[in-house]
Amino acid sequence: MSSATARLAAVHGPLSAQTLRADFPGLATTVHGKPLAYLDNAASTQRPRAVMDALTTYEVEMHANVHRGVHARSDRATAAFEGARERTRGWLNALSADEIVFTRGATESINLVARCMDGRMDADSEIVLTGMEHHSNIVPWQQLCERTGAKIRVAPVLDSGALDMAALSGLIGGNTRLVAVTHVSNALGVINPVAEICELARRAGAPILIDGAQAAGHIPLDVQELGCDFYALSGHKMYAPTGIGALYARKPWLDDLPPFLGGGEMILEVRFDGTTYNDPPHKFEAGTPNISGAVGLGAAMDYLAGHGLERLAALEHGLLEYATERLQDEPGLKIIGTASPKSAVVSFVIDGIHPHDLGTVLDHEGVAIRAGHHCAMPLMDRFGVPGTSRASFAFYNTHEEVDRLVAGIGTARKLLGQA
Ligand code: PMP
Repeated sequence: MSSATARLAAVHGPLSAQTLRADFPGLATTVHGKPLAYLDNAASTQRPRAVMDALTTYEVEMHANVHRGVHARSDRATAAFEGARERTRGWLNALSADEIVFTRGATESINLVARCMDGRMDADSEIVLTGMEHHSNIVPWQQLCERTGAKIRVAPVLDSGALDMAALSGLIGGNTRLVAVTHVSNALGVINPVAEICELARRAGAPILIDGAQAAGHIPLDVQELGCDFYALSGHKMYAPTGIGALYARKPWLDDLPPFLGGGEMILEVRFDGTTYNDPPHKFEAGTPNISGAVGLGAAMDYLAGHGLERLAALEHGLLEYATERLQDEPGLKIIGTASPKSAVVSFVIDGIHPHDLGTVLDHEGVAIRAGHHCAMPLMDRFGVPGTSRASFAFYNTHEEVDRLVAGIGTARKLLGQA
């Protein structure tokens, strides 16, 4: 427990899901006449009232376009937007707010890097990925390879769902021009040893991008300590609105890389005989940004920091342990991804029950899970399954909701003639 977390615990006492739930009006709704048990947090989290209130205050009191205004309201919008950038800097412990580029989400953050890397790749270049990447951290690199002739090398995943670190280490070498690795697997919940992987990349002189979509709302982060070159995150997976995310990039990269999109905001001067670009991060933020989204992201970070991310993560860990214990007792149920450490995601298959059928039965019981390939088809192939059922927890979930998941599996067995 960090000293900040210990202080919070001393001041506020232990956290409980029941009290935190009151901050999330979306959880107090019904589905098919049953109370909602929202267990699809790896896909998108619900938003606390603090975020909704911040959005309303922004809309009512501040909204105008940013940066170019000569009026007070535009100054207020700019201050709110740049304030959110500073909060994101603090969240990641980046050296400077200039290292934070706002994007639509992790997908756009990764695409931004991939689109700007053409000049650094040739037919001898290798991009090292892992077998557990989300399609967002595969396809942009495949497209980069199509444009430049570079090749992708894939580090395998062990039966436990852990990354094969020995194999990864063997793949990172003199031809590696980029390593791109997920911090937490969305399909398995497995947490990768990203600090160690950064060290491997650093020793080979290769830049490293970490896909933090599943980590940023659950694990305290320090990009300076990690030593990564790029870190991508999505707001909607950390209690903020959709359509906002961020890319952290070390300043020398943002200085050196060419711009991503062209247009307003990203220029200093435009003439028909040539254009000069704005300084980072604005060089990478063409057009009017998602100002309210950024404000919502800042508010979500404040909400999480206010409770202490480590204290919230401890609640999630308790749910993971309880759900794992309950599910592994189920006959014919196999959890995919048993390696530790894990984030609060449980992916599983059940003999004779298709994940989509289970998802539909559970939905009628008010229990929302994810069923399918989780945008990680190569990983599903690795485990020889077309898809899995995935329950993913946030600090506001309860043990009773886990019980309802297990009871729903029983109902599915009855309906499908297994019991
Ligand atoms: N990477 C991982 C590991 C993810 O889980 C996701 C979302 N499922 C993404 C990237 C893409 O995030 P977004 O759709 O918010 O851009």
